[in-house]
Amino acid sequence: MPDFADDSAPIDLAAVDAVVRRHGGRRDALVQILREVQAITRWLPHEAIATIAAGVQLTPAIVGGVASFYRFFHLQPVGEYHLLWSDNIIDQMAGSRVLAAELCRQLGIVPGQISTGGLVSTGFTSCTGMGDQGPALLVNQHQVLTRMNSERVAELAELVLARVPVVDWPAQWQQVDPQLRRSDQLLAAAPMLGAGLQACLARGAEATLAEIDGSRLRGRGGAGFRTADKWRLCRRAPVLPGGSRIVVCNADEGEPGTFKDRVLLSCQPDAVIEGMTIAARVLGARHAFLYLRGEYRYLLESLQAVLERRRAQGLLGRNILGEPGFDLEIEIHIGAGAYVCGEESSLIESLEGKRGTPRIRPPFPVERGYLGQPTVVNNVETFCAAAHIAERGGAWWAAIGTPQSSGTKVHSISGDCERPGIYEYPFGTSIEQMLHDCGAQRTQAVQVGGPSGICLAADEFGRRIGFEDVPTAGALMVFDQTRDMFDVARNFSHFFAHESCGFCTPCRVGTELVVRRMDKLAAGHGSMFDEGELRELEALLHGTTHCGLGASATNPLRDTLLRFRPAYERRLQSPRFTPAFDLDAELAPARHVTGRDDAGAHLERQG
Ligand code: SF4
Repeated sequence: MPDFADDSAPIDLAAVDAVVRRHGGRRDALVQILREVQAITRWLPHEAIATIAAGVQLTPAIVGGVASFYRFFHLQPVGEYHLLWSDNIIDQMAGSRVLAAELCRQLGIVPGQISTGGLVSTGFTSCTGMGDQGPALLVNQHQVLTRMNSERVAELAELVLARVPVVDWPAQWQQVDPQLRRSDQLLAAAPMLGAGLQACLARGAEATLAEIDGSRLRGRGGAGFRTADKWRLCRRAPVLPGGSRIVVCNADEGEPGTFKDRVLLSCQPDAVIEGMTIAARVLGARHAFLYLRGEYRYLLESLQAVLERRRAQGLLGRNILGEPGFDLEIEIHIGAGAYVCGEESSLIESLEGKRGTPRIRPPFPVERGYLGQPTVVNNVETFCAAAHIAERGGAWWAAIGTPQSSGTKVHSISGDCERPGIYEYPFGTSIEQMLHDCGAQRTQAVQVGGPSGICLAADEFGRRIGFEDVPTAGALMVFDQTRDMFDVARNFSHFFAHESCGFCTPCRVGTELVVRRMDKLAAGHGSMFDEGELRELEALLHGTTHCGLGASATNPLRDTLLRFRPAYERRLQSPRFTPAFDLDAELAPARHVTGRDDAGAHLERQG
């Protein structure tokens, strides 16, 4: 950890320049350059931005604009210890807000501010993917702390104040358990060490694609596009001269309540990498990226070790498995805290070193993706499944699940249950079964697929997971009867407003207006007028936004208004509009400045 006494400490510009040179001054490496520079300088002062800009031949304004897009890049000083609490509703239910306040008290700081001398700063961030073992903290965007409690907070404050390096903090705090509760075809499998690849080579690219087609595998990231169709479209798209098709593994698992990719990358990394390699063989791609969310930075070294081992085993690199011309390099790209980068075109923008603004489509990434090349972006779980399908055949996978949804699905279960963790089930499994298995009792509601998914009430627990009934990207959050579903919806509204990239007005403004109305209801100033406004905003956001984030931002509002209306009615006190604040009191400073305090200077005394 850099040992800055204060923020006027000189920046090591030679080190900044060395980072840029190590990346060959490539503009498309800008996000990685910013991340690596910040690891040295702790934040990104103007001198660092200017040095980077000169190195990649862009203006400082453009480089600063890219940095400002990502929450994990700091254009203002942060503490030597920068502590971010996961602000998922599940972490909050486990007491994160109380613990955060207690930590600030013990450190003698205000949330969001940096301590005198620059030692420590704290704040909140979106779900860090530890919903099964929270409350969780992220330290310097690098190290995860799990299962925080009041004892750990007290000890943490002492360690910070004593400037003990993070590597010397108790190892059990940094322990991330897989919490595999139910394993099926993917999670129970032996490590995939080339069997899928050998079958692919023996069969040939066209026949392997036919097996993927026959399996009816659909993308596991949420949209459910058929994998074979996506690969086929990419195969057909022309490659730019001297270029190559590109394979991208989307491990930017940012949907609150989702942590299954974290576990797949920890427990089955070979299957994921092998799936990517098989996709590259089918597509004729020579380059691939694994886009790992910044919150999972702690997995980087172990994943790099897997890549290194597979190179040594002839499963990656040049002439894979002795096949002349079958070359593939996989590069790991670390995200920097932007939920919208989970959307495939935003992710590609980020890979190209830009702000992660979703692209206008068409053209779709399969036609023109990374640097204009045909690009396939698939989820971690999709690649894992593809590797096993290549080995065992499409018919094997198609026989599992339901006619419309083949295979298994990995779920991250968290919230009010005795056994939170990872559960893999065949498609077609009922919510009821899942709640029984995880030890949920007196369940009031489940949020399936994260905030952008669907909220179901108890009378719907007989419904089944599958594209034809309840689709999901893999999160199941459980809320028992003690929970206030308005609070849940309000937390999610804050999440979407925080994560809106700001590109289009309906989402940028609309998500903020939803937050203000929800906060107004929470403060006890709600009226029927506000409910009408919320419904209008919900309709507006569903029909006018540029990407799926805005379109799904009011799903929790829609679902909870429909299913848990009493939670809102308690807060809709008046049939008429009620201001959210006391306007007359707000005018007091103006009265003070003008020296007036007569009846005419007060709103309520007029007329
Ligand atoms: Fe950005 Fe929201 Fe518009 Fe998507 S909908 S482009 S996240 S502002």
